[in-house]
Amino acid sequence: MALTTYNKKRNFKETSEPKGKSEKKNLFRFVVQRHDASRLHYDFRLELGGVLKSWAVPKGPSMNPADKRLAVMVEDHPVSYIGFEGNIPEGNYGAGTVEVWDAGVYFPVNEDLEKIPGQQALKDLDKGELKFFLKGSKLEGGFVLVRFKKDDKNWLLIKHKDEYAVNKKYDSEQFSKAALKKTVKARKKVSSK
Ligand code: MN
Repeated sequence: MALTTYNKKRNFKETSEPKGKSEKKNLFRFVVQRHDASRLHYDFRLELGGVLKSWAVPKGPSMNPADKRLAVMVEDHPVSYIGFEGNIPEGNYGAGTVEVWDAGVYFPVNEDLEKIPGQQALKDLDKGELKFFLKGSKLEGGFVLVRFKKDDKNWLLIKHKDEYAVNKKYDSEQFSKAALKKTVKARKKVSSK
């Protein structure tokens, strides 16, 4: 089953992550979780085929089409993981802090509305190229995931050139909750003087 690997890697007596079980419906949601683990990365997840198809993006997603972000495909996650935030205790798989960095909906560009939702997207993923639109609060517009040739887990996540694209340096860390808190604190300090 699709979530066997997910369940095997985790001890649910210790972690507060949800147990893996696949869903029947597909609502085309996406989430990006900032995962401050042994190595900081961003987990990019698309709801598809009853699970969250998942990629670990070391540098985080970018709204700049010039950035080709490495996205390493990891095990499917349960759809219920979509709102997961919290701390995975030391000694457990993925130990560290998870925060939702962005969430919203996506839509595969080649989706055939006559067919089962997500069927075409699953085929596209199999072929190694999935084009989609995102509507989140940080990520917006066209994107593509392209798999490296002769490689099953390394992909690139690239922003398409459109009206949402930015052409200056994009650092997803600047939009993390920790960074935003810092900015608010600094502003309060200034305004209280
Ligand atoms: Mn992760």
